Amino acid sequence: MKPRICNFLPVPELLSAENILCIQPHPDDMEIGAGATIARLSRSGKQVTALTITDGSAGTYQPSDKPGEIARTRKAETENSAKLLGVKKLIWLDYADGGNLPYEKIRADITGTIRSLKPDAVMVCDPWLPYEAHSDHNRTGLAAAEACLLSGMPQFCPDDLQKGVMPHSIEMIAFYYTAYPNTLIDASDTWEIKLAAIDCHNSQFSGEKGEKLKEYLTARSEEQAEKENCRLVEAFKVLTVTHLHIFEETWQC
Ligand SMILES: [Zn+2]
Repeated sequence: MKPRICNFLPVPELLSAENILCIQPHPDDMEIGAGATIARLSRSGKQVTALTITDGSAGTYQPSDKPGEIARTRKAETENSAKLLGVKKLIWLDYADGGNLPYEKIRADITGTIRSLKPDAVMVCDPWLPYEAHSDHNRTGLAAAEACLLSGMPQFCPDDLQKGVMPHSIEMIAFYYTAYPNTLIDASDTWEIKLAAIDCHNSQFSGEKGEKLKEYLTARSEEQAEKENCRLVEAFKVLTVTHLHIFEETWQC
């Protein structure tokens, strides 16, 4: 049985979005979480912009690696991947990677970006993923959710008004990396693009590690696709911004 809140607040159709802002904590998250759907949206003429919160400089286990060099490598990898996915514009906030994100600052930056670009949909990692231990992910997801909830209210982050950046309300938020999906997007035609986009991140997923990740993602996707009568899917929790405040049934939507 559907939760009662769905009669009052239907779950929006992700593929109906025209202008999508995809927010990722690190270079590579959008590909893993939503790459096939991003490719599908951009192939059908939709505008997709990627906002990356950190510079990715902590993406190594080698003490001798230089953070600045890692960040430069990962930016180049993301530029290559964005071309495959059809993401036309990349915005970098360049906060230091590694678990020290200043919550209120990134919330203000995300709010300003939403108000400037005026997307109808925002994609971001789900901050309510039960066992997610990386605070870059939890803070990015929550800051984005709060920015989506409040970006239409002029007194929230009011500095934007002084700069002539007007409030803007979005239609929907789509969480990737979610434990509570309510939307399965048919990814059969763009799955290979997603895998190729992951391959662009050679500094993170070379050799066996990359192969294992792609095998896992494909097996998980096939399992979820059984319900949808298609070959491969990507899973999202899609909500209106109204769902994001006070409603105890939202997790069940
Ligand atoms: Zn990440």
